[in-house]
Amino acid sequence: MRKIIDSEFIADWLDETDPTRIEDLLQQANTMRQISVGDKIHLRGLVEFSNICVCSCTYCGLRVQNDKLPRYRMSWHDILECAGVADHLEYGTVVLQSGDDPTLNPRWLGSLISEIKDNYDLTVTLSLGEQTEEVYRYWHECGAERYLLKFETSDDKLFALLHPGKKKRLASRIEQLYSLKKLGYETGAGIMVGLPGQTRRSVRKDIELFAELELDMIGIGPYIPHPDTPLSKFDMKKNADGPYMINDALTTCKTIALARLACPQANIPATTALASIDPDGLEKGLHAGANVIMPNITPRKYRSLYRIYPRDIKRLSASFSKTFTHPK
Ligand code: SAH
Repeated sequence: MRKIIDSEFIADWLDETDPTRIEDLLQQANTMRQISVGDKIHLRGLVEFSNICVCSCTYCGLRVQNDKLPRYRMSWHDILECAGVADHLEYGTVVLQSGDDPTLNPRWLGSLISEIKDNYDLTVTLSLGEQTEEVYRYWHECGAERYLLKFETSDDKLFALLHPGKKKRLASRIEQLYSLKKLGYETGAGIMVGLPGQTRRSVRKDIELFAELELDMIGIGPYIPHPDTPLSKFDMKKNADGPYMINDALTTCKTIALARLACPQANIPATTALASIDPDGLEKGLHAGANVIMPNITPRKYRSLYRIYPRDIKRLSASFSKTFTHPK
């Protein structure tokens, strides 16, 4: 595979802290975005249809141990109705996302995917955690075209800290990404920026892995501590010194910019997490090379329950028109 930017380039920019100089990198990424994927901003209607999860991810508010969180799963018809909203708004894509829920019946979802494809002019993206290859294949046959499965970090030790127990392993996550590609899915992955003890070196490797996987989609958001999770006990000030990543908007944008330069053709969202830590997060993400926005179309009564991290949910509820393009 031809390498577009080299390791040293990535490492140097990850070390850079001067905002004026970083602006130069963001400009490079913005130009690359314009040359490679154009000025159109793609909209993806996000439906967070269930917060039921069996995992123990130490950063995520949906973790099974969080018994403060009331759990829900939307009905088949309610999800279909949301897809109708995405279609009506001409978003072109609906993203069905949930916790890792083994009680989710693959046939139930398969019939829903087929129904969406039969009724609407929508691309269906799934983001449902790890499944068997058989299930991935079946959903693809039902009409799902894209799958998002973030690896969060490519550092083995940090991955183990994020995912205690045996349910999630980094190697199997990467294998699953290859298997999704082989099955014909447009495949997406991504990371969180500023995780406790996350080194700049490990993020350089994350970016190189994006390129190696030849991803179609890359989601990069800041890590946001959730008070009801074990990882929130970590003192984030420890990340401020030494070789670590900071979980702020500038560092996140720098990482988005490097991902754009490493993977010019990828679809890269200005993430909800970025918009949650910075009121101008969406614009900043778009300026750093992102070309996708994912408006949340989950019915209002469920939104506060899909609480992976504390967030300001008002910002992304704004409706976007289909003719959204990059500001000149
Ligand atoms: N269960 C599925 C999809 C859930 S989406 C899966 O694991 O793939 C959950 C995404 O939200 C994660 O991939 C992660 O990147 C993000 N997330 C969860 N908790 C977060 C936190 N505390 N801060 C920032 N992002 C978080």
